[in-house]
Amino acid sequence: MSFFARVFLLLACYFTATPGLVSAAVPGSTAPQRSECPVLDAADTQARMAIMHYVCFHQTSPGDRAHSATRPDELPGDVKWTPSRGHELVFTQTSSVYWVRLNLRNNGSERRLWYLNLNYPLLDEVTFWQGDGPGDVVVTGDQQPFHSRAIDYRYFLLPIILDSGETRTVTMRIQSSGALNIPLRLETPAELIAESNQLAITHGLFFGAVLVLAIFNLLLLFSSGTLYYLHNALYMLAMGLFLFAMGGFANQYFWPESPEFANISIPLTLVLCTLAMTLFGRSFLEVEKYTLADKTLNAIIWICAGFIGLTLTLPYSQAILFNTALGLVTIFILSIIAISRWRQGYQPAKWYVLAWMVMAAGSLIYASAAFGYLTDFLARESLMQVAIGGQIILLNYAMVQRWQLLSDKLLEVEQAARSDLEYRVHERTAQLRSTMRELENANRKLATLSLNDPLTGLYNRRHMDNVLPELCAEARRTGQPFTIALVDADHFKVINDTWGHGFGDTCLQLIASTLTRHMKRPRDITIRFGGEEFALLLPGTDTVGAQKVCEALLQDLQTTTVNGPDGKSAHLTLSAGIASLLPDEDQQALFERADSALYEAKARGRNQTIIARI
Ligand code: GH3
Ligand code: MG
Ligand code: MG
Repeated sequence: MSFFARVFLLLACYFTATPGLVSAAVPGSTAPQRSECPVLDAADTQARMAIMHYVCFHQTSPGDRAHSATRPDELPGDVKWTPSRGHELVFTQTSSVYWVRLNLRNNGSERRLWYLNLNYPLLDEVTFWQGDGPGDVVVTGDQQPFHSRAIDYRYFLLPIILDSGETRTVTMRIQSSGALNIPLRLETPAELIAESNQLAITHGLFFGAVLVLAIFNLLLLFSSGTLYYLHNALYMLAMGLFLFAMGGFANQYFWPESPEFANISIPLTLVLCTLAMTLFGRSFLEVEKYTLADKTLNAIIWICAGFIGLTLTLPYSQAILFNTALGLVTIFILSIIAISRWRQGYQPAKWYVLAWMVMAAGSLIYASAAFGYLTDFLARESLMQVAIGGQIILLNYAMVQRWQLLSDKLLEVEQAARSDLEYRVHERTAQLRSTMRELENANRKLATLSLNDPLTGLYNRRHMDNVLPELCAEARRTGQPFTIALVDADHFKVINDTWGHGFGDTCLQLIASTLTRHMKRPRDITIRFGGEEFALLLPGTDTVGAQKVCEALLQDLQTTTVNGPDGKSAHLTLSAGIASLLPDEDQQALFERADSALYEAKARGRNQTIIARI
């Protein structure tokens, strides 16, 4: 918080500050300390380095004669020139006119060229005179078109050519709104070129990097459709433009013929920065909708929109004050929101907070300079670039972190979905297997049921229809005998009529078990194919064998005592007709022959076995 306290202290100073000099004595200077303006030997490098020991100034307030004077020869004769005595000329009062004087002499042996370099590109009105009279004059300042400058350069340069032994007085009249710095240097062309080259590289790198990052973010926006890339790009562009304007480049390259826009450009780009940083912060920090933080940021966005309009109408000094205050308040609010998001566990907010701390340092530098507390214009520019560059890199890193977080989350969701899917597939497969098993069992049961007689458990007519053709075909193929015996209960109707259907069923079960008992060979098949009608399929058995089996079982049943429900004994007997498959016979003919034999057995008095005729 101490940063904000200090910045607001600076803002307070802005209102209360009186015109004055900022103590910035050149260390180790050996320049003379005289009340009148000393003469600077331009050929003496050391003296040039200590130029502020040779500068005199006169500050005039509105109403003074010197304030309304437009030429040095209009200045009153009793003007009191104040020697700067090595101090930087930095003023925060804006309504005054500053007259600055510098006496130069060439003690060298040759005629030479120097440049008087006024390194503060934001001064509104600057007029240079060489000599005592109206003579050689350059009227410039950022309220004049750029071509008014003596040299096409972002700073104000005055070329001064002095013959050997020549002395000349340079007078400047300076007026500007906002902070007013008069940083002066006297440089040789070689020094100026060297400095300009070095600055061109560092500025080129800085603005180039900002532009490339902004374009990269725009490309990310187009490829991903994520809005905070746009906000980040806007922020970088606005911040780059702000520094470009502050450095005097915008006046030189963007609007050289529009001096009226030069003043507006700085507060305007500043409020655009505030707008873009708010938009970016809101989307990047994933501020939840309708919360206090969200409402505050929305309010700031609307205030920014209003301030853009105000900037176009208010004077520079007020616009810069309002927009600086709005920017600082916004940085403060965004920092608070970012810290709380960080504490909520949102990791990318950590890098955002760090970026904002670097930004806060940059704001401090800017505010210090704007209100006259940092006099070295070049140092301020470099420090601002380092701070803003650091912030931009950290913000982009924060975005990478956010991207990483999102892709981790996505991966997590994907993995969870995959394992869930695997589990479900597994579960479904198990279910399917068990259903298949159940189905198989059911099918098996159904097959059994469909081929079996439920009362006796013997095979039914359907099974006989299935196997009879196969058994006939097999017998024909192998030449083995195949015999069928049709067995029918005698007078069974009487049993039913006497003791009822239930007892009849019991008798049928008894007959079935007797038949089964006599079917000794594994391939013998017992079938109940009608009410009290049975068939014995005997593969590999001839008529003689079949006759033996039938007689044995007839005998068996005949001798079995069966008592009806009333205790009276029921006599169960069977009749059987036997037929063996003839070489050219089909199952139908075989069956009919056996049936005829059975019929004959019945006709002959029942309880007997008859072999079919061939
Ligand atoms: P036959 O000696 O000529 O074979 O005389 P029968 O009475 O056995 O012959 P018929 O064909 O006239 O009658 C068969 C009887 O068998 C009719 C029915 O009462 C009885 N019956 C048929 N199927 C069943 C059954 O599933 N349960 C019972 N309890 N009786 C049955
Ligand atoms: Mg019958
Ligand atoms: Mg019968």
